[in-house]
Amino acid sequence: MRKKTAAPGRLELVREFVNTYDVEDDVEGLASATALGAWLHEHGLASAGVRASRADLTRAIELREALRSILLAHNGTPAAAPAAAVLDASAIRARLQLRFDEQGHSWLEPAAGGIHGALGQLLVIVHTAIADGTWERLKACREHACEFAFYDHTKNRSGTWCNMEVCGNRAKARAYRQRRDLTKPAEAKA
Ligand SMILES: [Zn+2]
Repeated sequence: MRKKTAAPGRLELVREFVNTYDVEDDVEGLASATALGAWLHEHGLASAGVRASRADLTRAIELREALRSILLAHNGTPAAAPAAAVLDASAIRARLQLRFDEQGHSWLEPAAGGIHGALGQLLVIVHTAIADGTWERLKACREHACEFAFYDHTKNRSGTWCNMEVCGNRAKARAYRQRRDLTKPAEAKA
């Protein structure tokens, strides 16, 4: 199942970051500033021993939930939070810079180090994905009890649920119950 939902290349890091909060079971993977630093180091975004403050943790979670609201928007749910402003603020803190080399290549890079720089690297990945057309395929499951981030591998970008067997069937069963409940009073009257 993991393979089916994984995003290509470094975009997978953004997907995993969003999934550090398990909506369904209400399990927070970034439960402390230490856990945030460890996660960023384990995923190659920060050096060992990077220290995160409580304010860093608050901002990281704010960024994660802004990303989730964008992934929900990719799945047809109107964005609830002012996500762009949160991403802007994060980019400013990371001091993202456009860099060039003699061979004519350019890239974005955070001038800031530490946690700001690490979160800035996630924004660089988002920017690259927007440019190469993979960003809109990264979605959050439309099942509200789930909201798991998954990559839509379908040909026509029609993927709605992280897992058809689980979330797709849940939504279908609910729609069936709603239809049944709606038709009941009419049947009673007839
Ligand atoms: Zn789901």
